[in-house]
Amino acid sequence: MKTISLAFKGADGSISVFFFPEHGILIETGPYITFPDIEKGLIREGYKSEDVKHVFLTHTHLDHAGAAWAWAERNAKIYVHAKGAASLQDLSIQQDLIRQFFVDQNLPVQETISNVFGEVRPIDKKQIVELADQQEFRFGTDTFRVHHTPGHTQDHICWQFEDKFFTGDIGGASIAGVPLFTPFPPLPDLDIPAWKKSLDKLEALIPGSLCVAHYGEVSRPIDHLQDFRSQFDLIEKWVETRYEDHANLQTLVPIFEDFLKGFLKDRGLSAEEAERYTASNPPWLSVYGFASYLRG
Ligand SMILES: [Zn+2]
Repeated sequence: MKTISLAFKGADGSISVFFFPEHGILIETGPYITFPDIEKGLIREGYKSEDVKHVFLTHTHLDHAGAAWAWAERNAKIYVHAKGAASLQDLSIQQDLIRQFFVDQNLPVQETISNVFGEVRPIDKKQIVELADQQEFRFGTDTFRVHHTPGHTQDHICWQFEDKFFTGDIGGASIAGVPLFTPFPPLPDLDIPAWKKSLDKLEALIPGSLCVAHYGEVSRPIDHLQDFRSQFDLIEKWVETRYEDHANLQTLVPIFEDFLKGFLKDRGLSAEEAERYTASNPPWLSVYGFASYLRG
């Protein structure tokens, strides 16, 4: 397995994708804006983009699946949980989720999405393989299994290969070996009880390692997951005690950004590592996420 780094927002090592050359399987695509990074990464390892035949998504957020259309146009099959298939075919579903934040910030929605993530095109239904929990795919003697792990999004899955689990955003992030929380996106994505259940499920599967999207392979998965759980509760309480209504949401974001700066420093991250983290885990998203949950 090859790990390829995508320099999202100029931060190398903020998004990882994983390539199994013997089967032509790419796990995660990153956003389209970093598509050249994958092509370069493949060439560096002695492969080319035509070698990608199967694209396994963990969920349909644009920093994970935003380039899926480009692989579909190169004839790769796109594997996604059945709940995410519609948003790959109809772009308005995906874009509605981030629209509110951009509208609140007086940012032009379409332009901001394409500036941050790059171009997005719909994917033809015939290129999409819709998945269900516990589905298995055999490639020679290797088996890849689907685990439905909702909470971060409803369509979130983890891919299992041997004792490695590709956990997208459900199992937290890891920068320079430091466990960190992944964003808590607004409703209808966020489901706190489901997320906690998915973490129970992951722990019960006794993973040998976790391959997280932000960033790379985590070799002590149980310690990592427990650390992530404690941060989950911390951030949930942070927002809960300060959130009043939609009006104070915007003032809360800069306060949270300051809190996060201190939090990352306390955890031993350098300024460069903190930048790698926030590139793909924007602080505002978690404030909006928990606030939308409190609003119901
Ligand atoms: Zn996500």
